[in-house]
Amino acid sequence: MGKGSSKKVVKKGKKPKKKVPGYKIFKIYDVSGGALKRKNRVCPKGHFFMANHKDRWTCGKCGYTEMK
Ligand SMILES: [Zn+2]
Repeated sequence: MGKGSSKKVVKKGKKPKKKVPGYKIFKIYDVSGGALKRKNRVCPKGHFFMANHKDRWTCGKCGYTEMK
């Protein structure tokens, strides 16, 4: 048992990184199966890709939803 040797080391200048959601990326690419697959669902309002949900497609820009 050492006495008084448990000084806390505080690293200065390092704040915990904020989590930035990468939703834009995974809405464009389907990463299932280890390979990047481009989704080819296009929003009728002119946005490029829509998010693939279990039972529907959703545009991340305008919120357009299309049932499968
Ligand atoms: Zn859209």
